[in-house]
Amino acid sequence: MNAARAILRGATPRRGLFAPPLRALSAAPTELSFLDSVFHFFNQAAGYTNVDRNLLDVIRECSNTVQFKFPLRRDDGRIEVITAYRAQHSTHFLPTKGGIRYAETVDAEEVQALATLMTLKCAVADVPYGGAKGGVCINARNYSPDELQRITRRYTHELNKRGLIGVHLDVPAPDFGTGPREMSWIHDTYSELNPGEPQSLGCVTGKPVGQGGIRGRASATGLGLFYGVRCMLNNPYIVQRAGLPEGTGLNNRTFVVQGLGNVGYWAAHFIHQAGGKIVAVAERDGVISNYDTGIDPDALRKHLVASGGVSGFPDGDYEPHADPATMQCDVLVPAALEGVIHQGNARDVAARMVAEGANGPCTAGADEILTDNGVIVLPDLLANAMGVTCSYVEWAKNLAGMRLGRLTRRHSEAQGTALARVMAENGFDMEPEVRALIQTGADEEAHVRSGLEDTMIQCCDEVFDMLKSGKVPSLRVAAYVKGIERVAESYQRRGVWP
Ligand code: NAD
Repeated sequence: MNAARAILRGATPRRGLFAPPLRALSAAPTELSFLDSVFHFFNQAAGYTNVDRNLLDVIRECSNTVQFKFPLRRDDGRIEVITAYRAQHSTHFLPTKGGIRYAETVDAEEVQALATLMTLKCAVADVPYGGAKGGVCINARNYSPDELQRITRRYTHELNKRGLIGVHLDVPAPDFGTGPREMSWIHDTYSELNPGEPQSLGCVTGKPVGQGGIRGRASATGLGLFYGVRCMLNNPYIVQRAGLPEGTGLNNRTFVVQGLGNVGYWAAHFIHQAGGKIVAVAERDGVISNYDTGIDPDALRKHLVASGGVSGFPDGDYEPHADPATMQCDVLVPAALEGVIHQGNARDVAARMVAEGANGPCTAGADEILTDNGVIVLPDLLANAMGVTCSYVEWAKNLAGMRLGRLTRRHSEAQGTALARVMAENGFDMEPEVRALIQTGADEEAHVRSGLEDTMIQCCDEVFDMLKSGKVPSLRVAAYVKGIERVAESYQRRGVWP
């Protein structure tokens, strides 16, 4: 255990609702690791709750972290040893839930940090799961689809034999480097290993539609981030506190997005659609910017998929070494990696708002600098929480065995059509869009979007109100306070067994 973590773990949060945190907790003397940053944020927020210290220790610690190694036969016949992990942070609700990441950075600390965030994120979004996270330490780009399939199936087997996957035990989902294809392999492997298990579709979420997946899951995290950004920009207090010019909505606001993958692309897509101007996008090979007319994220995504990078995109200037974190914009959306805003560049962040699409993009040191500089950070706990919220809906759908809206859509349409006809007969004029809305029954995707929008608005209102009351210094502290208090309530209701 390093010295910084010893300080953080040993520190005593002050009792009393919204008492100021101890200085030792709010100071981040050296750059902390991802896990230490999460502990730091936890301890800082704990000082603003009146949760019992012993209970805080229980809530903070990760219950179970497993590392396993297994052989992979490469396509050329060589055998390679693969290292993989699964961490279950908290089992106060079951199943535990959390994505599976394929990245070379994956290690025990990273999955623990991500699993801790998952517990608190689920609590903030009122999703009844404990937090978990898994990972395989590979660069997925270095393996063929056949090799990735063998890795994914063997990983699922390793989870299964340890009781670390199951509809009511632990349910993985996509994360960095994985997507619907891998989730489909996981489901297939699990159902082969557990023949006849009812509802086995619910053993994993983020599956392809048609394989038990749900319409709207692919875009859910980015859409949720967009809703969060819209909430910030529609809130006069938040806009004024960030020091942005008065105004509401996304029009005339500029955005820089890091990572045009699942989260970043969909966030950029919805921001652009709502009138926001994407002035720069960063990918692995550099940054493309266009401050005059902005960037169309759909066109850039097509170029990225076709060419593997953003260089060569015709509608922007390419710069291989620019740091997107310090580029001029109103809102910065880091949606790729953790630790990209750190003590070394946080003072140069030009944005007045940061919306954390990625998990852990700001270190504890960076967070302190941004807060001191009045930058409003919508924290990962909230900004990317609609991914797991949508996964929850997919899981519930798998348990129910039926898609949302199947029984009600046609009935709602008939009601709406009758209402529109009666109104027209009685001389009430209706705009064509209003008529179309009334006469359209909600299909699965409409249900999902409505649920995500409602959840995000409610969550934002809660943390914005806490900030406005002056009781906490930042939205991050507010979100952690919410998460910790909800998990604590759950522990108190359940008691300690035996
Ligand atoms: P992804 O693999 O779909 O996309 C990541 C993108 O980042 C890729 O396009 C990749 O090329 C790009 N990238 C990699 N290195 C980069 C660099 N140095 N600079 C700029 N871009 C770089 O992954 P994702 O699912 O979008 O996940 C991204 C982040 O969002 C992760 O932190 C993940 O934990 C978090 N997240 C994802 C979800 C989800 O539903 N997928 C939900 C919540 C949180």
